[in-house]
Amino acid sequence: MVWLLRKCIRCERYTLKKDACPYCGGELRVPHPAKFSPDDKYAIYKSPLRSVINEENDNIRERGD
Ligand SMILES: [Zn+2]
Repeated sequence: MVWLLRKCIRCERYTLKKDACPYCGGELRVPHPAKFSPDDKYAIYKSPLRSVINEENDNIRERGD
C-alpha cells in the first residue's frame, strides 16, 4: 500500500489522495518508496502511511459515522 502514498511538495505532508493535497491544496508527488521493504511486515508501522491513515480516518469520523 505504500506506493499509494503521495507527498505534498508544499507542506510535505503525506496523503492517499492523488490529485491535490487535502491539507493545503498543493501539488503531490510520489515519494521514493525504496526505504520500505515489502518483506518487512512491520514497515507500515515505521512509515508515514500509518499516520496518514489515522488522520484520514479521523476526518471520516468527523463527518459523522
Ligand atoms: Zn500540502
